[in-house]
Amino acid sequence: MVGSYDLVVIGTGVAASPIARECRAAGWRVAVVDSRPFGGTCALRGCTPKKVLAHAAAVIDSVARLRGKGIAGEGAHIDWAELIAFKRSFTDPVPERNERSFDEQGIDSFHGAARFVGPRSVRVGDDVLEARRIVVASGAEPVTLPIDGTQHLSTSDDFLELDALPDRIIFVGGGYIAFEFAHLAARAGAQATILHRGDQPLERFDPDLVGLLVERTRAIGVDLRVKHEVKRVEKTPRGVIVHADGTEGEQRFEADFAVHSAGRAPQLDRLDLAAGEVVRDGRGPKLNDYLQSMSNDAVYFAGDVTGRGAPLTPVASLDADVVTANLLQGNHVKPDYTGTPSVVFTSPPIAGVGYLEAQARAAGLRFRVNHRPTPDYFSARHVGETCSGHKVLIETETDRILGAHLVGPEAGEVINLFAIAIRTGLPARDLKRAILAFPTVSNDIQSMV
Ligand SMILES: Cc1cc2nc3c(=O)[nH]c(=O)nc-3n(C[C@H](O)[C@H](O)[C@H](O)COP(=O)(O)OP(=O)(O)OC[C@H]3O[C@@H](n4cnc5c(N)ncnc54)[C@H](O)[C@@H]3O)c2cc1C
Repeated sequence: MVGSYDLVVIGTGVAASPIARECRAAGWRVAVVDSRPFGGTCALRGCTPKKVLAHAAAVIDSVARLRGKGIAGEGAHIDWAELIAFKRSFTDPVPERNERSFDEQGIDSFHGAARFVGPRSVRVGDDVLEARRIVVASGAEPVTLPIDGTQHLSTSDDFLELDALPDRIIFVGGGYIAFEFAHLAARAGAQATILHRGDQPLERFDPDLVGLLVERTRAIGVDLRVKHEVKRVEKTPRGVIVHADGTEGEQRFEADFAVHSAGRAPQLDRLDLAAGEVVRDGRGPKLNDYLQSMSNDAVYFAGDVTGRGAPLTPVASLDADVVTANLLQGNHVKPDYTGTPSVVFTSPPIAGVGYLEAQARAAGLRFRVNHRPTPDYFSARHVGETCSGHKVLIETETDRILGAHLVGPEAGEVINLFAIAIRTGLPARDLKRAILAFPTVSNDIQSMV
């Protein structure tokens, strides 16, 4: 069949869906295509299911922290099968709900991998969809690792679908996926190992605060190895052996399950961009400031696939707004990612927004640094937390917050206040003057600025 549309959107995630819906609401003929169940990574294989599991780990952690401080007994533990069933109560309804609402809105749905067959046409199975505009919101995928045996590594998708938790799990790469899952696995009773190539894991977070989290990660039993470069993965009857070059030469790590957690990159390879006259620029597509292809003005990109803003859900949503506005009213909006917060949902979480200290120095900015470990703060002590601290960078001349970095209780919530301050240019003195509820963790920000 050949279909003719005003807009074809590739993907049904956070970036794709609002664009399709808004353009349809404006009267456009719209089709959406996805090669996987409708709903995208965040709702099905990312943020939402991950947070359900991370919360269970946080509950176990909070019981452990308060033992001897009024909580007694060994009672609570994670029932993995029950937890996964609970997680599925969030994810399972998503695809059908999405497809039904597309249908109700008059958006045509196509299942299968889309690839360009011309500058304004894509093929999905036997169907060719011609369109005035095409939006690529195909997300990201694990980077290809240049090592033998990568096919024996599982992905975060596989981890989130495990019906039983393996006894021994290795994470290849020390990014946020490794930390979140290792914290969870350890609290659920597994032996987790993280093998990280560089000397600091969680490279996009403040090194001093990462140091505190590394201590905590090891204290809960995670075997975290830095300067360990994975060279080869071998399959065994029971699981895998991961070979890594470490501080003591080549070492073998045996496990039942090994997860690729060494980063994700724009998912472009299956799209045959050349057939669509869409030019690439390194890992991502070559785009102008309006998220439009530089070589084919019919094509826009949004979300993780752009390789531009941080690969996070709020950024994909922002891209969706930008692309929608540019499609409907002509190019006039550029994405502004200033003040995008990022959180690792470990227990406790670590979070950051704005400049890292090293970036601010490299940019020649003049600022003061309020840095302090805070296990003595009430907010940490009353929940038995010893891993707690902050680093806030405040520009000398303007009093603007340049960057804020937190580890400890509720860091994932408190960082949003700094995100608002950075995005709106709210000076530190205004944060200090605000009246904030007490006793809350947010109230601590007045001691941080
Ligand atoms: C384990 C994990 C945890 C995460 N946790 C967080 C978090 O806590 N907070 C946060 O902000 N972000 C988190 N993220 C990142 C977040 O999920 C992404 O930034 C966000 O989902 C990106 O949305 P998107 O619409 O750009 O892409 P996606 O949601 O990935 O959607 C892309 C869609 O395109 C489809 N597709 C790809 N290629 C084709 C093709 N050729 N044809 C047809 N369809 C195709 C895919 O099947 C997919 O459904 C997490 C990611 C992962 C993997």
